[in-house]
Amino acid sequence: MGRKFFVGGNWKCNGTTEEVKKIITVLNDAHVPSGDVVDVVVSPPFVFLPLVLSLLRSDFHVAAQNCWVRKGGAFTGEVSAEMLANLGVPWVIIGHSERRLILNESSAFIGDKVAYALSQGLKVIACVGETLEQRESGSTIDVVSAQTKAIADKISSWDNVVLAYEPVWAIGTGKVATPAQAQEVHAELRKWLHNNVSAEVAESVRIIYGGSVNGSNCKELAGQPDLDGFLVGGASLKPEFVDIINSAL
Ligand code: PGA
Repeated sequence: MGRKFFVGGNWKCNGTTEEVKKIITVLNDAHVPSGDVVDVVVSPPFVFLPLVLSLLRSDFHVAAQNCWVRKGGAFTGEVSAEMLANLGVPWVIIGHSERRLILNESSAFIGDKVAYALSQGLKVIACVGETLEQRESGSTIDVVSAQTKAIADKISSWDNVVLAYEPVWAIGTGKVATPAQAQEVHAELRKWLHNNVSAEVAESVRIIYGGSVNGSNCKELAGQPDLDGFLVGGASLKPEFVDIINSAL
């Protein structure tokens, strides 16, 4: 079976109750591919998770943007994987570059988080990606391979993992990777999985692209053979997110 297209909307630290309700109305009214064509997952800030869970159409799903690295307890300000599972949140984004770079989360810490979230029954969107400096110095593939290895080292199954390739220089900058640039890295990541995990995992894991995806550039990116969907930031807060979902067709 082919890999099912996956479109995630990362709302980041944005929104009010009123704005969230408006976005959900747009999504709930949208005409999207019917049947088993695309997984749609939206990721609001923690405080809006119950609201989104209660209002969102049942064929779309919800992700948290982060979770704690181990069992909850005396960790002020954190939200545990158990709490997300208890609330009925099926997905979590882990290792977003904003957390790696601004909050100094290391690849090893992210690997531990992915493993713990999976152990609690969550599905994980795990993010990797190089900075502009790393790209310009020619180390893109080394960087994303090392970030992927730090995850692979800690998990025994990739069944519930989607890998998101998000070049840092493309996030929120309007500077999208070209289809060829994205395809090259996705193919290398798949090769890495083939050589270091298994042929089956390489064939089945969805590798999605993130970084300035919008309603106009999604179609050409979606046509790349190793690109299985998107993780969308800015444009996921706008009606054009529906066009991105429909790029699966
Ligand atoms: P962007 O963000 O689409 O606004 O570039 C993507 C992301 O950070 O996931």
